[in-house]
Amino acid sequence: MHNAQTLRWEIRNAMDAKTQQQLRERLEARKAEIERDVSYMAGEIRALGIDQDQENGALGNHIADDGSSVAESERILTVTDDLQGILNQVNEALERMDEGTYGICQRCGREIATERLEAFPYVAYCISCQSVLEREQALGVEA
Ligand SMILES: [Zn+2]
Repeated sequence: MHNAQTLRWEIRNAMDAKTQQQLRERLEARKAEIERDVSYMAGEIRALGIDQDQENGALGNHIADDGSSVAESERILTVTDDLQGILNQVNEALERMDEGTYGICQRCGREIATERLEAFPYVAYCISCQSVLEREQALGVEA
């Protein structure tokens, strides 16, 4: 038997599941997009003749005479790093969906606001924890 209260609860819950499904689709689309970009970047780096295993410090040895290629490859590596970072967050968000912990702040355990998840579906922290973490990061405190 449904009384008005359980019915409302079921409707709200169904909407949440729908929202989460939409966010999952967005995350999966984002993931495919990032993976495509990362493989494109990898191709660019190969085209510049740089061995990705030797990214730190060794770039100049490979193409010492071409400063613009060094700058370009450094730019690509930076972008690739950023993309990999987002990709990790996207993958972790998808894992949390599978585990049923999606939308729960990984630091304080409170629910992350739906508007925040809709803006950034891969976030792992609520807005207040995020700002604390960013402040710590800016100060160079190890997480
Ligand atoms: Zn939090």
